[in-house]
Amino acid sequence: MLDYVDLEEDLSAEEKLIRDTAREFVAEEVQPEIADHYENGTFPTELIPEMGELGFYAPNLEGYGSPNVSEHAYGLLMQELEACDSGLRSMASVQGALVMYPIHAFGSEAQKEEWLPALGRGEAVGCFGLTEPDHGSNPAGMETRAERDADGYVLNGSKTWITNSPIADVAVVWARDTSADDSPIRGFLVETDRDGVSTNKIDEKLSMRASVTGEIGLSDVRVPEENVLPDVEGMKGPLSCLTQARYGIAWGAIGAARDCFETARDYQLDRDQFGGPIARFQIQQQKLSEMATQITLAQLLAYRLADLKEDGRLRPQHVSMAKRNNVRMARNQARVAREMLGGNGITTDYSPMRHMSNMETVYTYEGTHDIHSLILGQDLTGIAAFE
Ligand SMILES: Cc1cc2nc3c(=O)[nH]c(=O)nc-3n(C[C@H](O)[C@H](O)[C@H](O)COP(=O)(O)OP(=O)(O)OC[C@H]3O[C@@H](n4cnc5c(N)ncnc54)[C@H](O)[C@@H]3O)c2cc1C
Repeated sequence: MLDYVDLEEDLSAEEKLIRDTAREFVAEEVQPEIADHYENGTFPTELIPEMGELGFYAPNLEGYGSPNVSEHAYGLLMQELEACDSGLRSMASVQGALVMYPIHAFGSEAQKEEWLPALGRGEAVGCFGLTEPDHGSNPAGMETRAERDADGYVLNGSKTWITNSPIADVAVVWARDTSADDSPIRGFLVETDRDGVSTNKIDEKLSMRASVTGEIGLSDVRVPEENVLPDVEGMKGPLSCLTQARYGIAWGAIGAARDCFETARDYQLDRDQFGGPIARFQIQQQKLSEMATQITLAQLLAYRLADLKEDGRLRPQHVSMAKRNNVRMARNQARVAREMLGGNGITTDYSPMRHMSNMETVYTYEGTHDIHSLILGQDLTGIAAFE
């Protein structure tokens, strides 16, 4: 696998083991069926517990069954999962970074005991409800409301584009607490079997098809006080989760690009035109050279991010730069790989077009490319250009 400047040489034995475990799992359990899942618009839900057993959900957290692996190991895990399909990495990202992380960081002891081990083992599935039909890039405009009554809270509103919602047992729902001064945003753990919760599936996707996406409808949903995440208020709650997940995306996108590169190189060496392999043509070699260079640059950024995260020096803006750059890189290189496969490149027999189409989602979710440009622009100039 492409590792042009020997970055993997410096990994610890444990980090290599985690990478190899994920690589083998993908090759044996998912790769053979991923094209069918993509075509059918399904996720291999039967693998969710096995992914838990293998430690794929938030292994970088400490306690409650999580082994606290290094940030490099966590990144490599995301890279291997997304080398198969962005849907697989999205499942693990949402479960780990968007559901387990907020419970771990902001939850009560009882919430941690109840949910973290079950989510970590894949016995329960979680989802993260932030986006609303009228509030995507600007989630602070959210309209979902939580109103306090004698027994707890009553939630009303709707969330959309929610990964895993139709298969989730619990949703982390972000809503405005209208009973408190200034209606702060709070996080609520909402079991999806509560009265008034609906989780309709969104079927019409042309991207990220091997991932379950849906809505969350909340109609007078009653949750007890114990279901509020006690230790966070305001946009800091959801945004800190997104920083964790975007870190995983910055790594994961490299996996998709790497798989495109490997597929294109193999194809070019096998496929003969004009009396020999097409890999002998300078135009094709130029494409492979550029692809390998862009992947290597993205890897360097991801490895540096891991160092900063380990040292506690990682800023959300660093993550914005890496998410923005690495996903754009993967989106561009998937397209080049697709063209290098000629007509065969438009089928599900080969991965590049599937990755290319997945990258349309990855480019858009967890902060669009444009929004990350604005985050960086603000950091570089001190001037916010969002409104
Ligand atoms: C498959 C999939 C899974 C998802 N999973 C989840 C999930 O699990 N949980 C969740 O909460 N959300 C999820 N999302 C939602 C995702 O985060 C949003 O789609 C994303 O934030 C963009 O919001 P929007 O679609 O409303 O686009 P909009 O905000 O309407 O943006 C439309 C366009 O306008 C641009 N734009 C917007 N504002 C500005 C500005 N100020 N300056 C310049 N350009 C701007 C954007 O960059 C974009 O190009 C998912 C989305 C998809 C497609």
